Amino acid sequence: MGRVALVTGGTRGIGRAISERLKKDGYAVAANYGGNEEAAKLCEQELGIKCYKFDVSDYDGVGAGLKQIESDLGPVDVVVNNAGITWDGPFHKMTKEQWDKVIDVDLTSAFNVTRQVWDGMRERGFGRVINISSINGQKGQFGQANYSAAKAGLIGLTKALAQEGAKKGITVNVVAPGYIDTEMVRAVPEKVLESIISTIPVGRLGKAEEIASMCAYLASEEAAFITGATMTVNGAQYIAG
Ligand code: NDP
Repeated sequence: MGRVALVTGGTRGIGRAISERLKKDGYAVAANYGGNEEAAKLCEQELGIKCYKFDVSDYDGVGAGLKQIESDLGPVDVVVNNAGITWDGPFHKMTKEQWDKVIDVDLTSAFNVTRQVWDGMRERGFGRVINISSINGQKGQFGQANYSAAKAGLIGLTKALAQEGAKKGITVNVVAPGYIDTEMVRAVPEKVLESIISTIPVGRLGKAEEIASMCAYLASEEAAFITGATMTVNGAQYIAG
């Protein structure tokens, strides 16, 4: 097939599972990361894909990273905007730094990356942009005003870009995971996690592979008529809660 896919935050957790799945499906995969060299090294060794360090919240850094990726692998056809962080706290204690950091890494990053591959996708008449939001962007979450705003912002961005890309063969969609078993979720205190699981009708956390398979479908030719959509992958937690 010869298509090139970039997965931001593609070396750990959900992103790593997406990188692995896309590689299996025949893409030349570039996995971006922020600073965890050990995870990146493991990813290169175990998955046999190239990893690229740049900060997705830095527009020029993203540009330099993309230049390297395109010179190594070719133009990027598929982007999965997956890199994300949390920095939680009740709103009455939330600092400006806490707000800015999460908005920059979780929302502005999608602009930084997508804007710099968009013209190429338009010229080639094909593109797939997949934005990883969250159930907490859909419903809001106590203690996560910054994260909920950023993740909801990705849904608005997706709906606008879906319309702009439609005539150019570019689809833009959101995957909104529920609680998935990764380091980000394992950092949640055990008692809190137990109470979260009790609100998931399926009765367990999701697996990173279950997010990866949705991304693989949205990246495929078969999904050409799906654009501007928010695909929820959450064990029915959203409708039950
Ligand atoms: P992890 O914390 O396990 O992995 C995060 C990845 O993002 C890492 O590869 C990390 O790189 C990278 N990253 C973080 N900041 C930056 C940055 N500034 N520049 C480049 N890369 C960066 O996260 P998850 O796998 O749990 O989450 C992945 C996505 O899914 C996130 O957007 C998250 O919000 C979303 N999500 C997760 C859910 C869950 O239950 N886990 C639920 C709903 C949504 P490095 O390793 O170098 O730090």
